[in-house]
Amino acid sequence: MLLNKVLRATVRSGIRLQSSSTAANAKAPSSDHSASPGYSFELTEQQKEFQELARKFAREEIVPVAAAYDKSGEYPVPVIKKAWELGLLNGHIAEEYGGMGLSIFDTCLITEELAFGCTGVQTAIEANSLGQMPVILAGNEAQKRKYLGRMTEEPLMCAYCVTEPGAGSDVAGLKTRAEKKGDEYVVNGQKMWITNGGKANWYFLLARTNPDPKCPTGKAFTGFIVDADTPGILVGRKEMNMGQRCSDTRGITFEEMRIPKENVLIGEGAGFKIAMGAFDKTRPPVAAGATGLAQRALEEATHYALERKTFGKAIAEHQAVSFLLAEMAMKVELARLAYQRAAWEVDQGRRNTYYASIAKAFAGDIANQVASDAVQVFGGNGFNSEYPVEKLMRDAKIYQIYEGTAQIQRLIVAREHLGRFKK
Ligand SMILES: Cc1cc2nc3c(=O)[nH]c(=O)nc-3n(C[C@H](O)[C@H](O)[C@H](O)COP(=O)(O)OP(=O)(O)OC[C@H]3O[C@@H](n4cnc5c(N)ncnc54)[C@H](O)[C@@H]3O)c2cc1C
Repeated sequence: MLLNKVLRATVRSGIRLQSSSTAANAKAPSSDHSASPGYSFELTEQQKEFQELARKFAREEIVPVAAAYDKSGEYPVPVIKKAWELGLLNGHIAEEYGGMGLSIFDTCLITEELAFGCTGVQTAIEANSLGQMPVILAGNEAQKRKYLGRMTEEPLMCAYCVTEPGAGSDVAGLKTRAEKKGDEYVVNGQKMWITNGGKANWYFLLARTNPDPKCPTGKAFTGFIVDADTPGILVGRKEMNMGQRCSDTRGITFEEMRIPKENVLIGEGAGFKIAMGAFDKTRPPVAAGATGLAQRALEEATHYALERKTFGKAIAEHQAVSFLLAEMAMKVELARLAYQRAAWEVDQGRRNTYYASIAKAFAGDIANQVASDAVQVFGGNGFNSEYPVEKLMRDAKIYQIYEGTAQIQRLIVAREHLGRFKK
């Protein structure tokens, strides 16, 4: 089988991953890392191979087509198929369901490289991880086998359906209702801004099952797996967004849609915790994506600054420009450390909410600053779509909005921080 041939070969080559040696992944300790009990900035040979594979793929297969997909808004099917064949999608699915059981740290390394190529493509890929994560965290054996297994057999997409027209940050305000009738739940409501909305084979859906407004949020919602071909699902038009335009974002309406009770995750009332819990594992990759975009902006600006001449010398030799590049480099390095720390923490089986929100907020912010600075370095050319950096600036904005806005991340960091001081 062609499936995931390259990465799988790498995994089977016998070298253990440094961050797979974790309680969360239940794997044997890394042979080449266990000798060093302290913090290490060195990637294992295998991680370097993952990184190199994704880097090569981004430069050879994504960069050349990114501008055309940005212009057309077309979903990048051939790119996603090739990435899937190489094993650059779904790496975190456990081996027993056909995946490679990669750690969050390892998937982040891949994500950063893909994002360097185009974050529209990377978001389409990353939305799969977001849709799968509730099933990975809370699915029973049959659910995992059925819904995760099929994604390793063919290049399918899935989606995470939580946000609604009236509620994004305020998840407790969701109105979509699932009512139990016999052995089924009947769902009515509307979701909005769903990445892969029109491309998904199945959805993770969060809906209110307890209509009592006094019911605590932690018990009022239920998480479901929904096959995308279920009658009663109306997929809206593709939204034309500011950036990441080839990613598929849509509204989805549910009208008298029926879900069998076997598709409930854990049980009635467990949904809010599942939906929010997924973010601890998906925010580090989102931060890695933002870092990849910032790295691209830094590299583009640096090449340009070394070539463009004003007043008889390369603009990189003007101190104001070189300091701008230095500031950009500092931000990229720190964002990378932030996502790696957040990923590493969760791979140790520890609660990483604090680190995940720091990484997501910081990397999202610096992606915007660095992309804007890259436009500045390009001068007038930076404002023009013939050059790559205006796309980066448009693409960057979403990192301060989806998977919890910049403000919501600060709420979480503040809560976690103050919680350590309060008695
Ligand atoms: C391209 C795109 C893709 C997306 N993909 C998905 C997806 O796949 N699945 C999914 O479920 N959702 C998805 N979303 C939705 C996204 O997660 C939400 O848009 C986001 O969480 C913000 O919610 P909102 O748009 O309702 O904004 P609101 O919650 O209305 O917020 C508006 C503003 O108010 C601020 N704000 C709100 N509450 C507070 C507060 N308590 N304190 C301080 N400031 C606050 C926010 O930070 C923001 O600046 C996507 C959105 C976009 C645009």
